[in-house]
Amino acid sequence: MKNDKLSLNRWIAEAEEKGQSLQEFLIEYNTRQLECDRAQLLDKMKEMLRVMRKSIESGLTGVRSHSGLTGGDARKLQQAKSCGLLGEKARDAVIFAMAVGECNAAMGRIVAAPTAGASGVLPGVFFALEKHYNLSEETLAEGLVVAGSIGLVIADRASLAGATGGCQAECGSAAAMAAGAAVTMLGGTPSQAGTAAAIVFKNILGLVCDPVAGLVEVPCIKRNGSCALQALAAAELALCGIGSFIPADEAIDAMKSVGDALPCALRETAGGGMAATPTALAWAKQYFSQDKDK
Ligand code: SF4
Repeated sequence: MKNDKLSLNRWIAEAEEKGQSLQEFLIEYNTRQLECDRAQLLDKMKEMLRVMRKSIESGLTGVRSHSGLTGGDARKLQQAKSCGLLGEKARDAVIFAMAVGECNAAMGRIVAAPTAGASGVLPGVFFALEKHYNLSEETLAEGLVVAGSIGLVIADRASLAGATGGCQAECGSAAAMAAGAAVTMLGGTPSQAGTAAAIVFKNILGLVCDPVAGLVEVPCIKRNGSCALQALAAAELALCGIGSFIPADEAIDAMKSVGDALPCALRETAGGGMAATPTALAWAKQYFSQDKDK
């Protein structure tokens, strides 16, 4: 039977055969698919980057969510004196990712990349790299094409929804997208980008979706921060020439099979994991009874 699923491995092999960078290969692929030219495609990416940047700015003002459960942590982390456990790049990635998560929880405007719940990971990684490597807007836009294309493959072979595949499909996918893009933005090869994406899935496999009270706040916001770190770690390994025994497509397929096996309670129903802890249940009970009184 012909396997016509999108394949990151196939794109990587084709790019390498042609001697192209992955971003150039994927820009050509996407302009063909979307029937637009390179400038139009990159302009769209730049527009999304502008929204992401504003989401970070909004989060860093210390916005709080409607429920009152979360907010202000990204700004708190930014203002706190670092204890030195994380380097500046990693620390900034966490701050920016959490800022977008807090902006989202406060009903601010975000780019769902790939979803609202996981919308902090890509901005976290992209703007930390921009700041510390002085990357141009063009490079970031090209990187976003790579990230989006990896997301396309994941959506086709597995899922990007926590309700379907758990948080590995949301924050995990965002981290894989960010890791592959980070490799390309820092001059890595197509196969290193695939390796980075595969490493993320190996490390994030099984991550459940368990939002407290069904709100995309706890554990989602901090999870965006930690998934940005996962992306940076995977990109670092790949750029240093460390391979992945499991190729990217197979890692994505494994994520799908684990997602399919997750019980309903761990797929965005707030029926398990952190959402089912005594603290979460007590808070949810109080929150929903207040809401009823309004
Ligand atoms: S825990 Fe669920 S709702 Fe929260 S970010 Fe992950 S997939 Fe989305």
